[in-house]
Amino acid sequence: MIIIKSAREIALLREAGRIVGLCHEELKKHVKPGVSTWELNEICERLILENGATPSFKGYGGFPCAVCASVNEVVIHGIPSKKQILKNGDIIAIDIGACYKGYHGDSAWSYTVGKVSGKDEKLMQVTHDALFAGLSQVKDGVHLGDVSAAIGDYINQFGYGIVDRYTGHGVGHELHEDPAIFNFGTKGTGPILKEGMVLAIEPMVNAGTKNTKVLSDGWTVVTMDGKKSAHYEHTILVTKDGYEILTTI
Ligand code: MG
Ligand code: MG
Repeated sequence: MIIIKSAREIALLREAGRIVGLCHEELKKHVKPGVSTWELNEICERLILENGATPSFKGYGGFPCAVCASVNEVVIHGIPSKKQILKNGDIIAIDIGACYKGYHGDSAWSYTVGKVSGKDEKLMQVTHDALFAGLSQVKDGVHLGDVSAAIGDYINQFGYGIVDRYTGHGVGHELHEDPAIFNFGTKGTGPILKEGMVLAIEPMVNAGTKNTKVLSDGWTVVTMDGKKSAHYEHTILVTKDGYEILTTI
């Protein structure tokens, strides 16, 4: 069941989203060669706590850290580590969740480390633009399939692999609520969006095959062919005429 949020819930979701946005703003200054993914995790965890929230991911299903840090061929759910030092040419997606008074914000963003190849820059740009192609469809009364189709059709022009084992989702009192939001689909299908729904839309795009596997740590999802992957996500509120991005400052 998709939940329509009350004004009170929306206010809390805005604050949770703002805190996640704050973390991404701060990360921009810190993602560079020589920094460990653990340090990036610490920066975010501290900011989340300082703002009166808790990291949504820490302990979720047993995940050990505040953020997911997914470098290069890691698609999602990378575990931050002191041993993982970023180097020039890496790309990293950092996924952050903050829970404020019981309500979650969820947003992932991909970052370049130093100077990256034109090929990797393009993968990131297309994934970013796919998110906004999907968002451009969002408003009260449209089918969820319109959003999914816009994302998938955009990505397909470039021949990339659209990850299909993981999806976007509703967000609220639970980090993951209905509906599942696929990054491909068919217009005119699926549930109808209503004002007051809060959704996390998150294309995950691979340079090569869409296929993925989970490493032996039980978390880290990597591309099957070892090629790179990018991920962008915003939590948004569906409005009468469009949407409001919640995970921004
Ligand atoms: Mg996320
Ligand atoms: Mg999410």
